Amino acid sequence: MTKKKSIIIIAVCMASAIGITLFVKRGDSENVLERGNIQMLCSACGHSFTLPSQEYDETVKKNIQNRGPSGGNVFECPSCSKAAAREALKCPKCGNVFIPDWGREKDYPDRCPKCRFSEIEQEQRKK
Ligand SMILES: [Zn+2]
Ligand SMILES: [Zn+2]
Repeated sequence: MTKKKSIIIIAVCMASAIGITLFVKRGDSENVLERGNIQMLCSACGHSFTLPSQEYDETVKKNIQNRGPSGGNVFECPSCSKAAAREALKCPKCGNVFIPDWGREKDYPDRCPKCRFSEIEQEQRKK
């Protein structure tokens, strides 16, 4: 019984040691300037979530392979599992998450539809 117990303890120790090694290794490979998390928003169910930039890049690559260049920036929503999630912006003022309208010509694409705050506009006013 004691022998069995010690085997289990050794197994647990080894498993956690492997886990720690993997964790440390991962941290090392990520020292290239991090973009942090990408804000995403699902246009089907309105679910907002964040993706690590690395995962974002990998998914874009995979999406382009599967759907062609036009489908590259459409992501599967973890909430409704529809391919309707896109890169979004989080308003620094009110925290509202929205999909910026990059085709907009007369206005700043990052203007928050809720409180009308635009970070680009703010930046340009400073100059
Ligand atoms: Zn969704
Ligand atoms: Zn806002």
